[in-house]
Amino acid sequence: MFNQRTKIKELLTQQPEGQEVTVMGWVRTFRNNQFVALNDGSTNTNLQVVLPLGEFDEATLKRITTSAALKVTGTVIPSQGRGQQLEVKATALDILGDSDAEKYPLQPKKHSLEFLREIAHLRFRTNTFGSVFRIRHSLAFAIHTFFNERGFLYLHTPVITASDAEGAGEMFRVTTLPFDGTPRNDDGSVNFKEDFFGRATNLTVSGQLEGELGATAFGEIYTFGPTFRAENSNTTRHLAEFWMIEPEMAFYDLEDNMNLAEAFIKYIIGYVMTHNREDVEFLAARLAEEEKSLPADKRSEIGLIEKLEFVLNNDFQRITYTEAIDILLQSPAYKKKKFQYEVKWGIDMQSEHERYLVEKHFKKPVIVTNYPAAIKSFYMRLNDDGKTVAAMDILAPGIGEIVGGSQREERLDVLTARMQEMGVPADELWWYLDTRRFGTVPHAGFGLGFERMVQFVTGMGNIRDVIAFPRTPKSAEF
Ligand code: ATP
Ligand code: MN
Repeated sequence: MFNQRTKIKELLTQQPEGQEVTVMGWVRTFRNNQFVALNDGSTNTNLQVVLPLGEFDEATLKRITTSAALKVTGTVIPSQGRGQQLEVKATALDILGDSDAEKYPLQPKKHSLEFLREIAHLRFRTNTFGSVFRIRHSLAFAIHTFFNERGFLYLHTPVITASDAEGAGEMFRVTTLPFDGTPRNDDGSVNFKEDFFGRATNLTVSGQLEGELGATAFGEIYTFGPTFRAENSNTTRHLAEFWMIEPEMAFYDLEDNMNLAEAFIKYIIGYVMTHNREDVEFLAARLAEEEKSLPADKRSEIGLIEKLEFVLNNDFQRITYTEAIDILLQSPAYKKKKFQYEVKWGIDMQSEHERYLVEKHFKKPVIVTNYPAAIKSFYMRLNDDGKTVAAMDILAPGIGEIVGGSQREERLDVLTARMQEMGVPADELWWYLDTRRFGTVPHAGFGLGFERMVQFVTGMGNIRDVIAFPRTPKSAEF
């Protein structure tokens, strides 16, 4: 058996009493031909490995270069140097893999995030990405724990879908039809009957509609899977491939939905604050350092940790869309013509408006409800006023919309009328409408963009830095 190693994170919690250990990892630095800073990805804290002078031959020492992979056996002893409690005094050393120092692109110095994006295959080996991806993992784990503890069923909705109910024009087509000699109908349109599935298919933009089918049998379900949008928006908040969490609950109204979403967000943030303290602290310090180079008015008013604690300890502000528009119209920003886009009842709020509400006016997460029906999807429940729907968006400081959800329209007649109004083909969605035909119930759900949540918790400014291998317009490397 090869793997008898102790992980560095675990080792560092030990009291140094001369126990023998084996560690494996990658060299971060090597100084004075004696001190190796070894990292195995379990923590940003490197293990200091001491190679007693004269114990290892020159040829071996020469091969200890940045990012070489080592196996070290030795004794845990109190550290002589400052900066660490313990170190490992090596008795045996194996070079598992050499690393050509001349060619290795990651030098032990500060690299820009833009540069690291170009070497995304190696950026996990930096402290920043170590912290980001351990937190991303913990968030995913916490999400499953939260729902599992509440009896939600994890439903896997399809990645390939024929329904184009949502996001028309933003879908990636899935096809095996040839580009040359594409089969055509008499009118010149593509004959998708010849395609793999015998119809036009796309990558999913949301698992919600299928999620509702699950909710109306299991009561409470959630999905957690990849989602694809061919939107050509080159922003710091949009990816072409991202992960979404979509709970759907029978017997929930809009308020139940908001309560769940708020409890959920607090739970997963709380989980990371307890289980990934070291990584959150590292990223908080990184952010504070990065912001030093910004003009004073662009810096965050509070640090990352304070921001997360604030979210944990305060109720989210709940306002209606109509109230939000009034606040914007009364704002100094509006009066001084600071908004680029128009403000009036009926607009789809732009990110400058959302940011004003969250960052300037309330200074905390805000849940906006009851949006105009005309700007929201067909499945959202029509309110009694006949012009708004029971929708809710949660807006978070720094990133804007993080959750979009609603109470779903459970009344078949109202639903089909809205579908007709909005040009959604009812015949293609016969299966969706069946839930309203056979034991329909009040139900609700929401979608949380996973990467936006990771951004919020890590303080990373660009969504490309919280997913391992980002897919964005004109970019699909790795
Ligand atoms: P936005 O207005 O920011 O584009 P949206 O209204 O298109 O968002 P929804 O369709 O409600 O978003 O999707 C649910 C959630 O998925 C959003 O609240 C957001 O957190 C996330 N999301 C949406 N589009 C993207 C994207 N392209 N990349 C990453 N996350 C996204
Ligand atoms: Mn969008």
